[in-house]
Amino acid sequence: MLRSENGRQEVSLVVDTEVLHSITTEGFRQPTVSDSRIEVENLSHAYQKRQALDNVSFDVSCGEIFGLLGPNGSGKTTLFRILSTLMPVTSGTVRILGHDLATEVKAIRNLLGVVFQHPGLDAKLTVVENLRHHGHLYGLAGKTLHHRISELLERFGVADRAKERVEILSGGLKRRVEIAKALLHSPRVLLLDEPTSGLDVTARRQLSDYLGTIAQTEDILVLLTTHLLDDAEACDRVGILDAGRLVALGNPDALKAQVAGDVILIESTDNETLGTAIAERFRVSTVFTDNQLRIECKRGHEFVRDVVATFPDEIQTIRFGKPTLEDVFIKLTGNPFVEKKDTEN
Ligand code: ADP
Repeated sequence: MLRSENGRQEVSLVVDTEVLHSITTEGFRQPTVSDSRIEVENLSHAYQKRQALDNVSFDVSCGEIFGLLGPNGSGKTTLFRILSTLMPVTSGTVRILGHDLATEVKAIRNLLGVVFQHPGLDAKLTVVENLRHHGHLYGLAGKTLHHRISELLERFGVADRAKERVEILSGGLKRRVEIAKALLHSPRVLLLDEPTSGLDVTARRQLSDYLGTIAQTEDILVLLTTHLLDDAEACDRVGILDAGRLVALGNPDALKAQVAGDVILIESTDNETLGTAIAERFRVSTVFTDNQLRIECKRGHEFVRDVVATFPDEIQTIRFGKPTLEDVFIKLTGNPFVEKKDTEN
């Protein structure tokens, strides 16, 4: 309604409450916790009769680095392919920043930066050319693109290599350029499939540091898969997969605290006989892994002293240390954490 009063014009609006409701619930709805998380609930996936994922559930939040750790064949790639929208959700639900992966693939793709295992850079082009081409695919151009490229190359410590051809860079630098490329369009979620594979220890550590910084400065959610225990140790939280099941979930230190005390590893010419003798004499449980005898106990230094004094001839080597994520895996599955051969495939 329009009316004139004291020479001023005033507008009064009559608002349809239904329209208002639809605006508040759809167009301008309040952000929820789900909007900054990946939420995986009872996710299962089977290739014909083979169960690759079995009722997997976990959450990851923005600003966090989450590692999916598991030996070969545990289901990491299957989960990665589902999260990166390459494979459909067939059982269970996945929400990415509030969007349902089963019905909103298009919206989700814009929110994702994905780094696959196989190289995604053109080796004959320079670093900056690779990034520029990728930026154009996402509709970025001009100054905006230029600034974003400079910012990311700076963040990943490769600004001084911008004009060099990718083919002459080391594996670690190439990987950092790939990650910079995946972040060009400012995604809220960065997914990386085995990002450190093929890198040496130093390059792996550097990459972990760069990812930690980027997760916090850009408040993005970083989810990576790995079969390397060191990589998982560097994550804020870890999900451990074994044969398609999530057997552990939590902060690496909290997971390791589940293992009681110290871990002793013993090698001898006859592990089985020695294991039985140690179990009887010291009332501890022994596990055989990788031709080793593995014992968990408190006050490991005293146990080492006593066991060596009792079986001086039988013991060839003995080591003791604080538990690692490998010990967590062994404790929970009863199996050693080794690269399993997938014989049935
Ligand atoms: P990871 O990445 O941890 O090695 P995968 O997700 O690749 O694990 O595999 C999980 C299980 O699913 C394995 O038993 C594997 O043999 C099986 N698998 C993976 N891809 C296929 C496929 N395309 N067809 C049949 N089985 C598959």
